Parts: sequence; C-alpha cells; structure tokens
Amino acid sequence: MCGIVGYIGEQDATSILLNGLKRLEYRGYDSAGVAVVNGGLTVKKRVGKVSVLDRVLQTEPVSGTVGIGHTRWATHGAPNDLNAHPHTDEDGEIALIHNGIIENYAALKKKLAADGYTFRSETDTEVLVVLIRAFYDELGDMAKAFRYALKQVVGAYGIAMVSAFDPNRLYVARNGSPLAIGIGDGEFIVASDASAIVQHTRQVVYLDDGEMAVIERDRYVTKRIDDDTTVDKEVEEVEFDLAEIEKGGYDHFMLKEIFEQPETIRNAMRGRLDSEASTVRLGGLMNVIDRLRDAQRLIIVGCGTSFHAGLVGEYLIEGLAGIPVEVEYASEFRYRDPIITKDDIVIAISQSGETSDTLAALREAKRRGAMTLGIVNVVGSSIARETDAGVYSHAGPEIGVASTKAFTSQLMVLALMAVKLARMKRMSASEGEAVLAALRELPEKVEYALSRHEQIQEIAKAYAQAPNFLYLGRGYNYPVALEGALKLKEISYIHAEGYPAAEMKHGPIALIDENMPVVFIAAQDGVYNKVVSNIEEVRARNGRVIAITNEGNQQIEGLAEHVIYVPETLPFLSPIINVLPLQLLSYYMAVERGCNVDQPRNLAKSVTVE
Ligand code: GLU
Repeated sequence: MCGIVGYIGEQDATSILLNGLKRLEYRGYDSAGVAVVNGGLTVKKRVGKVSVLDRVLQTEPVSGTVGIGHTRWATHGAPNDLNAHPHTDEDGEIALIHNGIIENYAALKKKLAADGYTFRSETDTEVLVVLIRAFYDELGDMAKAFRYALKQVVGAYGIAMVSAFDPNRLYVARNGSPLAIGIGDGEFIVASDASAIVQHTRQVVYLDDGEMAVIERDRYVTKRIDDDTTVDKEVEEVEFDLAEIEKGGYDHFMLKEIFEQPETIRNAMRGRLDSEASTVRLGGLMNVIDRLRDAQRLIIVGCGTSFHAGLVGEYLIEGLAGIPVEVEYASEFRYRDPIITKDDIVIAISQSGETSDTLAALREAKRRGAMTLGIVNVVGSSIARETDAGVYSHAGPEIGVASTKAFTSQLMVLALMAVKLARMKRMSASEGEAVLAALRELPEKVEYALSRHEQIQEIAKAYAQAPNFLYLGRGYNYPVALEGALKLKEISYIHAEGYPAAEMKHGPIALIDENMPVVFIAAQDGVYNKVVSNIEEVRARNGRVIAITNEGNQQIEGLAEHVIYVPETLPFLSPIINVLPLQLLSYYMAVERGCNVDQPRNLAKSVTVE
C-alpha cells in the first residue's frame, strides 16, 4: 500500500517522480504528491489519481534535482488534499512520505502539541515529520534528527525525506514496509518496489527492517537505526522486463494478466518436472524436503486470494501426500496465541512477499520455533528473505489489483509441492507419470478455457445489474467458489458469497429466488453428482444457474441457464482451470458496470499495513 519514490541526481526530479508514481499507482490511489528541493521546498499534492497531480504539475511546474513522491492508500484521515503526502513541518522545510502506520502517533502528537508544534492533517505521518523537526530544532543535525525520531516510533514504515536544510541529501528508512534503493550513475532512485526503478537502473539495494540510508548524488551509506552502525548491503541485479509492467495493448492490466496465464503456468513448472524419476523437483525446498515429508502438520497462512490458494493447498497436500494441513488467515493467526510445535512447518503465501499480516504471522511462527516456508511471487521480497526455504511462483509482475495469474501460479506451486511429497510417500511412479503428463498439458488447456471469453462477456452483459451473486463448489473447487466471489466483490462491487455447495441448504438457500444468479463449479470429479443435486435445489427455487463444467458434459444443459465448458484435467489440477471463467466473468461484469478494473475503489495491491 502506498507507493513511495524518491530521486537525487542531475536530472529533473519531477518528471522522474511522476513517472515512478504512475508505475506505483497500483499500490494506492487516494491522493498523489511530490516535494522537490529548489532553494526551498515545493510541495504539490492533490486528492485523486496521479493523473490529477500530473495536470497540476503541467500548469504549475516544479523543477529541481532532489525530490520525493507518494501515492496514498489512506489509513489515518480521509483521502483529501490536506491528508495527501508529502507532509511537512509547519514551516515547510522538511518533507516526508510514508508507507505504513505510526501506531503511537497519538501520544507523540500530544507531546509535540504541548511543546507548541502545530498540525494540519489527520495523518499519523505528519506527526513523524513534526517529530523530526523537533529533533532538528534541538540538535541542528538532520541525520541525527531523522534517526532519533525513528527510534521513538512504534509501527511500520517505509519512508523518504528531503529537506531545505540539507538540500543535497535524500533520507530513507524501513521498518516493515518495503524500500529499495536503485543505484544509477551519479544518481539514485528509491522506491517501494523495483517497478519504478528498472527504467533507470537494475542495480538495487533492499533495505531491511530497522535500517536507514543517507543518499547523496555520488554516494550512499546504510545504517542501523538503533545504534547508527554502518551496514554493508549487497547490491542485487533485478531481472525485470519493462514490457511486463506495460499493458501491451490490453485495456486493463487485469485482462492482460488473465491472458498471460498459459505462460505463467508454464513458468511455474519450468525446470521443475523430473521425467526420469516421475516426480517434481523444487530446488528451493531441496534442503528441507525430508523435514517436510516427516512434518506432523503444515500450517498455511495467507490473506485474501492467497488464503484461498492455501485452502486448495490443504485439499492437495492432505489428499495426495496425507500430511495434515491447517489453513489460517494470517491476520488471525498472528494475534491468537496459536499452538505451534517445533515439528510444525508454517507456509506463508503472498504474491508480493510483503503482506504485512502474513509477514507478522511468519515472524510469530519463527518465534515459536517452527520452520517456515514461503510461496511468493516477488523475488527478494521480505517473506522470501525471512523464510527458511521456499518456492517462487514466477508469475511475473502482477499490477492489476485483483489477483489472477498470481493465484493460478500459487496453485501450481502447491500442486507441485503436493506431488513431490506424495511421490516420497505414497504415490506410485506410474501415477507420478500420469500427473506429469497432465501438468504438461495444462498450459494448452488454460489457453483453451480462456478462448471462451466471448461467451463469458455475453453472460456478464446479461447479469451486470444483479445486486447479488452466489458461487458454489465442492472439494477442490470450494475454494475456487470463494475466489470467484471475492473477484466479483473486488472489482464490480457486487455483493457475492462463496460457499461449499452443500452448505447452501444450511442458510444461503433462503436467498434464492428468480433474481439470484448462482455460479456452480460442476467439474466432473468425484463429487459431480452431488453438485448436480445442489443445482436441482437451486432450480427448484427458480435461481438462475450458471454452470462451469467439462467439455462434452451435455447432461448439464438441461439444468443450467448458461453452461461454460472448460477442458478436463486431473481433479486436483481442476481449480487452475475452473477459476479462469470466474476471473473473466468478474472482469467483464466490472467493465459492463463502468468500474475501474485496475484500481478498484478502496483497495490497493500489496497490503503492507495491518
Ligand atoms: N498512514 C499513512 C496515511 O494514512 C500512510 C498510509 C499507507 O501506507 O498506506 O497517510
């Protein structure tokens, strides 16, 4: 949440900052602003999208070679001009941008107010910049003031600061929210993630929690905030294809990412299928695979779509490998005193690898002695670095706020893990061979399922005004129903609920009438006949049935108003295919309803606050 960008060098900072903000806008779009050092300090900020700020800067240009920019996802204070970042001290001489939450802001604010400092906004961020100012007034040393203020802060932050007092330095720090420093030739660009940096340089240093950096045009120093000791950071080379973060001719990132799935599924298994031994090879788990096989219990933690992937993971790993699995919302896990033994293994799933709740759950599990694994998409992210081992999902950058390709890649990784463990325990070589064959066919099947997009667009037209939706599935496809409902809520603002199909009769059936569209995932697997009975129950109450089933299943045509056919695969791989029409349905519904697909209201990608 919140995009942070900063620049120091010889070029015009404003255009670089603006460009960076456009790349980072998926992280928040409540307001946008920049602060540029030019003799004094000029701040321009506006509620709304980066495009609004862009227009302001065209009529009121700001020039300078040092500056910071922010795109906000509000936590404290409404989205408006006043609460927009950058925030400054009363005299406008120090400007700060922040991603995260200063938890003790109220106490700090009270104390500062008692000392005569004044505030203009409702944000927690403003308190921090005023605190820095207070220390500066006392010490006359900006680096010290920055560090001393941070030492008083409780909470999470990724921050960047510039000041008229110290016009040739850019200050950054991290505790809980990501911050990367891009190293250019006589210039540095800092940002919340590499997407705003790669255009300028591929050499990146990632700050760790509790670290800060003081950056000048030709040098930088990284230090620990607590004791001011210098830390040597490894410079990493980011692999990033700029085309991956462009829309490439599609109307929206979400649509582009949906259609990338044949490729991303292929990437998730690239180099991981071991035909000789009829099994799967997961390099990232090599050193821990025996412990994983012998684990008493696996606990999967995640949020949102990653939580749904975890639920599929439970069915997969229990079903194929016979290892008990529990799945928990990371946000609950971290605070509920969970019982974890040293024989448990905790698996954190996160697209960004920065999800604050998941990261905290992971740290809690570590504190309690569990081994931890990560399934993350962003290479080098916090969760990737803090887990004992893990597997990258290799979906490439996901910009659309509603997760699509990252979800199917997570499912792929979980399926590969389950197969690997199953082959070590109870799956025969011939079964392993059949699984590998099914995996190899998967990308083409995904492509075929997506080729049905026109039919799904028609269905979306017919139901675009429906106020409610139900999604039902059983077994492996129950979490898919949850995911389908989440997608619809996220981007079309239609109230939708997902349920295990059989649960319908225990409550939700009361909602069914001739206005209620019900999406059934009716894959032809072991529970197909049970799902058909549930469809009958909905029909008997005049509900409007949209069914997803396998090619060639004519029987369902008499039962459902709309049938979406998808290719058949092994039941445990079917969620990867069955979720595709649901992604497309939510996309086309949102388009029909005129919603902003890539920037849905109130949401942001990569939830780095609690
Ligand atoms: N807490 C800050 C605000 O509300 C930053 C929010 C964020 O990181 O998304 O402005």
